[in-house]
Amino acid sequence: MKRILVTGGAGFIGSHLCERLLDEGHEVLCLDNYFTGSKRNIVHLIENPYFELVRHDIIMPYFSEIEEIYNLACPASPVHYQHNPIKTVKTSVMGSINMLGLAKRKKARILQASTSEVYGDPRVHPQQEDYWGYVNPVGERSCYDEGKRCAETLFMDYHIQNKVRIKIVRIFNTYGPRMQPNDGRVVSNFIVNALKGEDITIHGDGSQTRCFQYISDLIEAMIRTMNTSDDFTGPVNIGNPQEVSVLELAEKIIRMTGSDSKITFSPARSDDPVKRRPDISLAKQVLGNWEPFIDLDDGLEKTIRYFRKLFGKHI
Ligand code: NAD
Ligand code: UDP
Repeated sequence: MKRILVTGGAGFIGSHLCERLLDEGHEVLCLDNYFTGSKRNIVHLIENPYFELVRHDIIMPYFSEIEEIYNLACPASPVHYQHNPIKTVKTSVMGSINMLGLAKRKKARILQASTSEVYGDPRVHPQQEDYWGYVNPVGERSCYDEGKRCAETLFMDYHIQNKVRIKIVRIFNTYGPRMQPNDGRVVSNFIVNALKGEDITIHGDGSQTRCFQYISDLIEAMIRTMNTSDDFTGPVNIGNPQEVSVLELAEKIIRMTGSDSKITFSPARSDDPVKRRPDISLAKQVLGNWEPFIDLDDGLEKTIRYFRKLFGKHI
């Protein structure tokens, strides 16, 4: 049994990670400031004596007796990370410094939830880990993209300078149950719109592509990455290479929900990446033949079922 800190533990990914780590018999400290996370995501874990909730903001130092840290705290939806961009940068940069300091002091392993956004609007397709990216440093997405890039730099510098045992995973678009209905990301937006019979709004012409990974595949890969040997730091891409356009996604969700929602178009968001697809060769090689298990149709089915149930209860 290990004592594991999960920052951003009340968020979408964090709550699934806390649940899985508890299932494996570990003690879990879930730290969150509830900016985009919700107690509803982890309420079912509160009775577990090995689960502890900490209300804290990682831009402030935090000390605890822990052996591993998964650093997930950071708003991930463009709508939320652009709401207070300075805070977003502070969370990635000062939050990473605080968590790396804790890892250094406790000689703990620490994993950073980085992102495909470090590749920006990529000029190389699909994206491999050795591609340095094409990122606007002064645009609306920069607070997130550059914050996460700086966090990767800090992780690597603490590793080289202080021998901190780090892991960096670059997560590609992930979806599933426990995304907030108002999260603002494309999968939850389209499902919520379709279930409510509202218009589905596509930013741009819908030809931009993404690759959507179901939550359980990500959680498996994150835990395997944490358990790789100390000489493996990453960065490693974690995603599902099945590429679809945003228009195809909208049509698929309308079909699967049996909705009569109409598709409407609004101007493209600034610096919205035109295409994105992970090369996951490295993940397959270092994570014991890991690869995504749940395809888009199955994952959407599960997610639609979750939102139907949620709305059945709350509307
Ligand atoms: P989320 O918004 O659901 O979760 C983020 C959590 O962090 C929330 O619970 C929020 O309240 C908390 N948080 C934010 N700022 C904080 C702060 N300063 N101090 C303490 N807690 C804070 O998003 P998610 O999808 O679960 O993403 C989790 C992590 O994974 C993020 O770091 C995100 O950048 C990364 N990521 C996610 C995706 C994806 O597709 N879901 C893709 C790439 C990277
Ligand atoms: N998008 C959209 N309508 C929405 C939400 C998102 O057309 O209601 C588009 C968005 O412009 C982007 C893609 O869907 O091209 C994925 O957006 P998301 O916010 O989920 O994540 P991103 O990959 O851009 O960070």
